[in-house]
Amino acid sequence: MIIIDGAEGEGGGQIVRNACALSLVTGQPFRITNVRGKRAKPGLMRQHVTAIEAACAIGSATCDGVAVGSREFGFTPGRVTAGDYRFAVGTAGSTGLVLQTVLMPLLLAGAPSRLVLEGGTHNMLAPPFEFIAESFLAVVNRMGPRVSARLVRPGFYPRGGGRIEVDIAPAPLQPIHCRERGPLLGRSAIAMIAGLAPEIAGREIVRARKLLAWPEDAFAVHELPDEFGPGNILLLTAEFANVTEIVSGFGKLGVSAEQVAATAAARMTGYLESDAVAGPYLADQLLLPFALAGGGSFTTVKPSQHSRTAAEIIAMFTGRQWRFEPQESGAHLATLA
Ligand code: ATP
Repeated sequence: MIIIDGAEGEGGGQIVRNACALSLVTGQPFRITNVRGKRAKPGLMRQHVTAIEAACAIGSATCDGVAVGSREFGFTPGRVTAGDYRFAVGTAGSTGLVLQTVLMPLLLAGAPSRLVLEGGTHNMLAPPFEFIAESFLAVVNRMGPRVSARLVRPGFYPRGGGRIEVDIAPAPLQPIHCRERGPLLGRSAIAMIAGLAPEIAGREIVRARKLLAWPEDAFAVHELPDEFGPGNILLLTAEFANVTEIVSGFGKLGVSAEQVAATAAARMTGYLESDAVAGPYLADQLLLPFALAGGGSFTTVKPSQHSRTAAEIIAMFTGRQWRFEPQESGAHLATLA
């Protein structure tokens, strides 16, 4: 039994998701105490409960102590079964984070699966759908499997009601080395808006255009039907031959459209000025598939606390240690020892 202190390191929900995935893949039970111990409101939230329940459903696992607010739970994995599954995150909890929990076990399950995930598709502090489909899954697919994701219906926080579908054709994960971005193929800045004044998105585009100085046709407003709102997200995409980085700015009450655009543009500029393949979010999400492939490497910006914590959880289940070595360029090279 692996015992994890959920207040260590990053101390949030990612520890829960990574532990469930690793437990199903390695067959080792675990127990987490002090769940989300570094958060203002510790304990499991609705979306973490859904993620654990999803892990139990695909992996015939049993658990105890899993309820909203719970600060300790145990998880005993069973056999992972491929198939058709539907999981609904009751509130606008992130569908992408549920996918993070079940994808790796299903990738290694030996038969195709299909997932329908309902909840939020564009949530603050979670990977937006486009990031999953174009950034994260594109790298995973280079490792052997074929995973495709469709956005059937967007769901913005707090209303939710979104739906994504994911087809998973498993294959053994092959180690790959991602050290070069390759040539720049395209850039885009899309302001999505639903059920809010369209000029909010227009103002985001004006500010982003000024700060990024990208070609005129890179910028667009996508107005979605009101029924999907209220919601607003600015998605900045840089597509290279070997990686696509997507930086998002979430519109929220009390933050001006200009500020949303300025924050996102600053993050994208920082990424473009470095030569790292993975931005901070992609990096913490790639550690698990690379570890399960048993090797490979990638360059990244300075490792985040999320990345360091994910690396610690991976080491607990697999005995393999991630190393992050600073490079002359300022990037870091992540390799599995
Ligand atoms: P909490 O922090 O409240 O415990 P949580 O379960 O929502 O809960 P984290 O532990 O913070 O989440 O993990 C968030 C995950 O979402 C990380 O894997 C991170 O890489 C990813 N993520 C967050 N924001 C973005 C974004 N803008 N783009 C891509 N990925 C993101």
